[in-house]
Amino acid sequence: MNYNNKSKKLLSKFNFKKKYGQNFITDENIIKNIVEKSLISKDTLVIEIGPGAGALTHMLATYAKNVIAYEIDESLKLILDENLSDCDNVEIIYKDFLNADISNDIKKYEYKKLYVIANLPYYITTPIIMKIIKDEIDVDKMVVMVQKEVGNRFKAKPNTKEYNSLSVYLNYYFDVKKILDVSKNVFIPKPNVDSIVVEFDKKDRVKLKDSKIFFDLVKDSFNQKRKNLKNNLKNYDLNKIESILKKYNLDLTSRAEQLSIDVFIDIANNLN
Ligand code: SAM
Repeated sequence: MNYNNKSKKLLSKFNFKKKYGQNFITDENIIKNIVEKSLISKDTLVIEIGPGAGALTHMLATYAKNVIAYEIDESLKLILDENLSDCDNVEIIYKDFLNADISNDIKKYEYKKLYVIANLPYYITTPIIMKIIKDEIDVDKMVVMVQKEVGNRFKAKPNTKEYNSLSVYLNYYFDVKKILDVSKNVFIPKPNVDSIVVEFDKKDRVKLKDSKIFFDLVKDSFNQKRKNLKNNLKNYDLNKIESILKKYNLDLTSRAEQLSIDVFIDIANNLN
């Protein structure tokens, strides 16, 4: 989208809010690259979190069937109305995404694929992704721009210091890959760090008997990273856990970061 004079003027007067992680992309090529790499088609419903001035939203709208975008900052309405005036397939919902009823909001749309595509507000990257997972929104793909350091953690493997509960959840649900490096110089205002764009593709997964048990187990195992499983999982059936760990040459003195996703699934599926 090329900003017209009116929207340039509106944006030049806009009071960027750091508390909302407002760093808008200015480079049309980066936006095009993200959207083209996402392989959106005319039967795709796209959820965007934080449309900002609508540059990414506009490009998404040209490729997708429909776009629903959640924006917390209502003072962007004038700019968004101007920049998206030629898009009739975009719905902007002015609310905090973390409080959104996503299933309800999307139910009026017909689509074959559901994607989440966003340049995420950095201060709530993890809560946003966890909300999508915990609300059990059946997304086929997520393509998100995040701070580089955070993005690298998404792909972390066991026995590395980046491996944490989020990496376990994400790698259970998705194949995760980096698709683009993005310099901090292409944003206004310029953030302190570079970003990366990460793609998450829904994968076939081993069934969980009860996803809540899995979530709690993973969260509790990583509760105090320096402590071993015996200390972090005091309230669990430690005998049962120990017998499962044995199969993987692990024991209760092991730490959470040594456990692969398969081990967490095996334990979760054997707890009541
Ligand atoms: N998509 C735009 C772009 O790429 O230029 C803006 C991205 S900016 C990094 C993040 C956007 O998320 C801002 O517009 C901000 O107001 C919005 N935002 C922040 N917190 C939010 C929340 N809890 N729910 C919905 N939108 C939020």
